[in-house]
Amino acid sequence: MNLDKKYDESQSLLSVNDLKTWFPVKRGFFSRQQDYIRAVDGVSLELFSGETLGLVGESGCGKTTLGRTLLGLEPVTSGEIYFKNFLLNHAGRKQMNRLRQEMQVIFQDPLSSLNPRMSVMDIVTEGLVQFKRIEGSKEDHARRLIKEVGLSGDAIYRYPHEFSGGQRQRINIARAISLRPEFIICDEAVSALDVSIQAQVINLLISLQEQHQLSYLFISHDLSVVSNIADRVAVMYLGQIFEKGKTADIIHAPLHPYTRALIAAVPVPGKERQDKFAEVKGEAPSTATPPVGCRFHPRCPEAMPVCRETPPPLRRFEDREVRCHLY
Ligand code: SF4
Repeated sequence: MNLDKKYDESQSLLSVNDLKTWFPVKRGFFSRQQDYIRAVDGVSLELFSGETLGLVGESGCGKTTLGRTLLGLEPVTSGEIYFKNFLLNHAGRKQMNRLRQEMQVIFQDPLSSLNPRMSVMDIVTEGLVQFKRIEGSKEDHARRLIKEVGLSGDAIYRYPHEFSGGQRQRINIARAISLRPEFIICDEAVSALDVSIQAQVINLLISLQEQHQLSYLFISHDLSVVSNIADRVAVMYLGQIFEKGKTADIIHAPLHPYTRALIAAVPVPGKERQDKFAEVKGEAPSTATPPVGCRFHPRCPEAMPVCRETPPPLRRFEDREVRCHLY
């Protein structure tokens, strides 16, 4: 058992091996050649029971596609996804239905992910009704769930537009925990909220995790937000993991030039701004035509000749993994 935190490293909940999610695109109108958007391009990671793994990177780096692939919402091009030692790639519809109850998602925009015509009671019990898991009154279930996320019981009779952004995200969370899942993907779940409300929602997620031994994959473009909740962090760039390690190590001693650039770009609470790190310049290239060699080399302030020719593998370095020729 990890003594700093509450998760158990002997209990793997989710294991991803060399996962690829590619989407075919035509090179040009008359071209017969096919290119691929390599949204997820050889990702391996592990999530332990009760753990929060932060997944950070710029917009378009593939983190949301990775989350959608784990939930079965995008087809796997190659690689393996094990959930509780069950290979999801080969799951039939019936098995997937059963597993879906244990895997839930909370999206960024609380309003668009809630049906405006449904009452809060119907929203938070929708999954329970669908999977025939209502015992007793639906109203009682709805009241219990809505109180768990810090709203008053009467809220179940109201509609999404009657709530603030933070309250709507609490309703989303109530819906996500209704089936008592073990795994929740939080996809930019607090990004649309004010900073003070972000902190409240993160505290709620942490408290629900402790009560229910939940595991989160917490996807965000904002490393400072991730640092408030994640036990470990994986940094993603152009479809690949560039650095992975314990949150404190990543925040206080980042190894990869891209991680250092991310830290330079965002204020980290309790730390002075990391001006010693260069901010990353320019736009990320397309995942349809990733640069040869290290994918980060056109933007890297420390690029060497080898970086333009040879792609670095993800290597173990001390207590973390890093994809860079410097290590
Ligand atoms: Fe920079 Fe080279 Fe490391 Fe890539 S491999 S991050 S280009 S130093």
